[in-house]
Amino acid sequence: MASSAETRFHDPADLSPSELARLEDLDAPALIDWAFSRYGLGVQVASSLAVEDVVLMHLAVKRAGPEVRVFTLDTGRLNQETYDMLDRVKATLGVAPRVFFPDSQAVERYVNDHGANAFYDSVELRKACCAIRKVAPLARALADAPAWLTGLRRDQSVTRAALRKVEVDSSGRVKVAPLSDWTEEQVWAYCREHRLPANALHAQGYPSIGCAPCTRAVAPGEHARAGRWWWEDASSKECGLHTKG
Ligand code: SF4
Repeated sequence: MASSAETRFHDPADLSPSELARLEDLDAPALIDWAFSRYGLGVQVASSLAVEDVVLMHLAVKRAGPEVRVFTLDTGRLNQETYDMLDRVKATLGVAPRVFFPDSQAVERYVNDHGANAFYDSVELRKACCAIRKVAPLARALADAPAWLTGLRRDQSVTRAALRKVEVDSSGRVKVAPLSDWTEEQVWAYCREHRLPANALHAQGYPSIGCAPCTRAVAPGEHARAGRWWWEDASSKECGLHTKG
């Protein structure tokens, strides 16, 4: 990743506390309008191809047009159902998410040093895998972006409960979460209303979409993130994509 001097686009002081408080009151369309009016089409829309991100992409295209920049991270360990979403999104929304891959030599080193499934061995090795397959490609995806949109929601996990609608991430970029106060029911209602494609994994009991070896279906009544890194404590269940500045 480039140095902080190269990647820091905005001093957090650019966004005053009163402005941040005002933004908390905006609904999703108004917040997306704010992001594009302030940062233009340099804004990147992140998509894991889960239902929240399909809703987010649809809203972004509706508000800013088909030129919006959308990306996804191909960790090399995704489910076929997630790869299928790339074509389905393009056919429905008219935008093709740009795909970013991990550095092949970094993956080779990790697998040869630790094993293909070493992420099960310790939190450190799991985070090291996420750093190679997710965090580093994210840095490339956002290299020239002053701001990005994500489909994070507060009720997805304990690690997201305090999520604000606009934050400054660890690289100094403005991260906007227009769906942060949406419930899962609201997301699905929007998806159905607009006849959007849904990742087939959701119908198989996966509320959260991630890498195949690190994501499983959840039982009725289980928390939405219970299927992610289920062998770890809930407080460690983030991959490093959403660290605050
Ligand atoms: S979710 Fe699992 S397979 Fe995917 S990058 Fe993280 S540790 Fe690696």
